[in-house]
Amino acid sequence: ARKRNGKNGTRLFDDEIVDIARKRLEIEQCIEQALREDWLDAHLQPIIDLRSGRVSGFEALLRLRHPQKGLLVPEDIIVVAEENGSIGKVGDVIFEKSVRYLADLSKIDGFSDSYLAVNFSPLQFDAALPSRLASLLLQYGVKPSRIVVEITEAVLMLDNPAVRQVMDALGALGCRIALDDFGTGYSSLSYLNSFPVDIVKVDQSFVRALGTSAPEVARKSRTLIEGICMIAHQMGCTVVAEGVETEHQLQVLNEIGIDFGQGYHFSAPLPVASLIERLRGPAWDKPAIRAGER
Ligand code: C2E
Ligand code: MG
Ligand code: MG
Ligand code: MG
Repeated sequence: ARKRNGKNGTRLFDDEIVDIARKRLEIEQCIEQALREDWLDAHLQPIIDLRSGRVSGFEALLRLRHPQKGLLVPEDIIVVAEENGSIGKVGDVIFEKSVRYLADLSKIDGFSDSYLAVNFSPLQFDAALPSRLASLLLQYGVKPSRIVVEITEAVLMLDNPAVRQVMDALGALGCRIALDDFGTGYSSLSYLNSFPVDIVKVDQSFVRALGTSAPEVARKSRTLIEGICMIAHQMGCTVVAEGVETEHQLQVLNEIGIDFGQGYHFSAPLPVASLIERLRGPAWDKPAIRAGER
């Protein structure tokens, strides 16, 4: 259709809109079907304590296992789910599954205290969320102190008293709050001051730049991470670096004094069965890096 109307700019534009609408509808139907047929899952990525080299927690990441299209990642799904109002249901499924997985992982030697980090969209922050989470945690016998609620600045930008109430209620429950993708938003630093944040997650773009071949870029991003780390520590937060892909990045992060790291260097996000296999296997018996180096 595009070629036929190629000379006419308006037609092309209309075609694009129709295309977007069609894709959107497709994703909406896909989400509905996924909820009905149980295609949604949480994959888990280990979070490593850089001091000891041990796995101390897991981040749950949404995956949609489509029978024809294969594994779909959050990128497209979340936005559509937020727009059509299904994010609440999607989020509940992810939370329920990942808490169940944490309960399973807790049975492995050495993982009874491991924590679970779950991403939340601003639109999931309704007044009933804390009590829903609390009863699920009770049901699976997981202490709220083992849960980290990951939010991005989008949640805080809403500047909505209801958001503050939900955050306070989650805090009172004993959950910790992590500020995700830190440093990429509009006023990251001010949020540290005005919200009860426990954990700062340095965005992976900063970590990626550490490994670049341009020394000036690498030096600047190191300086940025050092600054973020220092401020976060002074505010009483622990610091997690995202997107650790290489030994070199790990080494620099270690020198800076970052507390935790996650990324492909340690492990990709895995289905729970594969994760359990790996955690029981010899590769994770010893620390991923040598302890006591710092
Ligand atoms: P995020 O919370 O910042 O998660 C980190 C993303 O980086 C994940 O992408 C993860 O798979 C990816 N990643 C992990 N290690 C590496 C690495 O070494 N290199 C690179 N390049 N990437 C790495 P993913 O799974 O596609 O998720 C994207 C975003 O979608 C997440 O960013 C989060 O904001 C959102 N998301 C994921 N699951 C959920 C969910 O259940 N609910 C909500 N509301 N949002 C979710
Ligand atoms: Mg996250
Ligand atoms: Mg992030
Ligand atoms: Mg992100």
